Amino acid sequence: MVRLAMLRPKSIWSTVPCVKGERIATAPQARVGRVAADRAIVGARVLTLDPARPSATAVAFRDGRILAVGDDDEIHACSDARTELLDGTGTVLVPGLVDAHAHPLWAAGLARGVDCHSCRTRQDLRRALAGERARSGPGDIVLGWGADYALFDDTGLDGGVLEELAGGPALLTLFDCHTYLATPGVLERAGVRGPERFADNSQIVCRDGVPTGELREFAAYERVSGVLPASSREDALDRIAAHLERMAATGLTAAHVMDGSPDTFALLRELEARGRLPLRLVVSLWCKPAMSDGELAALRRLRDERGTLWRGGVAKLFIDGVVETGTAWLEEPDTRGGGTAAFWPDPARYARVVADFAGDGFQCVTHAVGDRAVRCALDAYAAAGAAPGVRHRVEHGETLPDGHLRRFAAEGVVCSMQPLHMQWRQADGSDEWTRRLGPERSARAWRTRDVVDSGAIVALGSDWPIAHFDPREGMAWARLRRRPGDPDALVFEPDQVLSGRAALAGYTTGAALATGDEADSGRIAPGARADVTGFAEDPIAVSGDALLDLPVALTVVDGRVVHQAQ
Ligand SMILES: [Zn+2]
Repeated sequence: MVRLAMLRPKSIWSTVPCVKGERIATAPQARVGRVAADRAIVGARVLTLDPARPSATAVAFRDGRILAVGDDDEIHACSDARTELLDGTGTVLVPGLVDAHAHPLWAAGLARGVDCHSCRTRQDLRRALAGERARSGPGDIVLGWGADYALFDDTGLDGGVLEELAGGPALLTLFDCHTYLATPGVLERAGVRGPERFADNSQIVCRDGVPTGELREFAAYERVSGVLPASSREDALDRIAAHLERMAATGLTAAHVMDGSPDTFALLRELEARGRLPLRLVVSLWCKPAMSDGELAALRRLRDERGTLWRGGVAKLFIDGVVETGTAWLEEPDTRGGGTAAFWPDPARYARVVADFAGDGFQCVTHAVGDRAVRCALDAYAAAGAAPGVRHRVEHGETLPDGHLRRFAAEGVVCSMQPLHMQWRQADGSDEWTRRLGPERSARAWRTRDVVDSGAIVALGSDWPIAHFDPREGMAWARLRRRPGDPDALVFEPDQVLSGRAALAGYTTGAALATGDEADSGRIAPGARADVTGFAEDPIAVSGDALLDLPVALTVVDGRVVHQAQ
């Protein structure tokens, strides 16, 4: 039973008013008795993940920081008449959960129309699109997202098939957001009539010189984005805010945003000014091969952009794509002859861009799915070095050979992984990911346990909108390596399962280390940021299967309750 009612303070005593914005980072216990909390939770079970005090029953917040952690009496002792006391009976508090890889703003733009994640058959897809068609005019472009490649296994990605399913013009975003399928009518409107050249390895896929409708990677998508139904800035702000609120309702207190632009900063500034930013966000600037050196230099000048709950200082680069389309960069070609090229046609320029950003104090983050891509990123980081306190990151690393894996810990590079991306694998190996990699490389899939055991920093995330952002689902996949709630499902690489504690660490301490925020977050300790997630039960002790239904009691960000169960 989760109760989070307001309590009356037990002790009312005079306090020395706190200087606004005072940073309570050291010797917090000495301050007890002098500075009163503005909010506190008592009667809870607190799993602090702080070795200095692993458990407690209460926590007090002040000015966005944790003022004190202790038993109820200790916390009552730093409360006064102005302290809002919350009854945490039946609640287990853990450090605020962080999705270490997400695209919440991009998702708000791409995830328009009907969500096709649940479509298992072509008939499901037809029904989903028909509902969307009914809501729009016959000539309008219908949008869908989250679709699995397997829906087109028999025909290949074909815009004509999509047109028939959608009853007219449509654009479908595949689940990984690396591939898009446009109907002939959409291509016609956008003036796409044959192969085109891009500054990166994006592609208008053609058969006999005629576009099939498959648009590979984002620059190809951008060729048609201009003819899609428009969305106003107000709409965009509303969608983003609503979206971030949904994330907070799953217990997330923060996310690492992987696709920022200067406009992202403008949007966040606007949301924050309106009081509609419920999550803490670390936003990376997306550096694309098509950008000139001058444009990249302009991005570097934005290093110190920040608001109250968000900051920049991170550069994001893609060095490859995805296994399923042969765009992941592999040491050896995949079974269909793909996987031989980097996303940056000139990987040496990628390395130079990394060095420029690293030299200006940025943290660099590289999307690297294939083994060759991971090696390229690690080499670029080793050559570039990093500013004090900065650790670069590799995202995904879906098939790590031993030699590459060992480099993460040895070279201080963060390994950011998304075990819940295994949900598209089939037990019989018939999925495109497994078929393309073949038995040897697919057997070293998402080596979470090996990376943890190597001593490297592991951060876990969803890559939303690729997979759902719910951290309970992410932790469940990390622990089970099979579909949660289906005990008979095949466990993929059972030796790679993570413990409940390691899975939680991936969403808390690991995520904090991944952005260099370990002094400030990842544990419930005096002086840390007041970001806390409350569950109805211990998320480490419940089974991986039970995690999905584990109620989120409350989410506290910067000392404010941004979500509370009814
Ligand atoms: Zn991503």
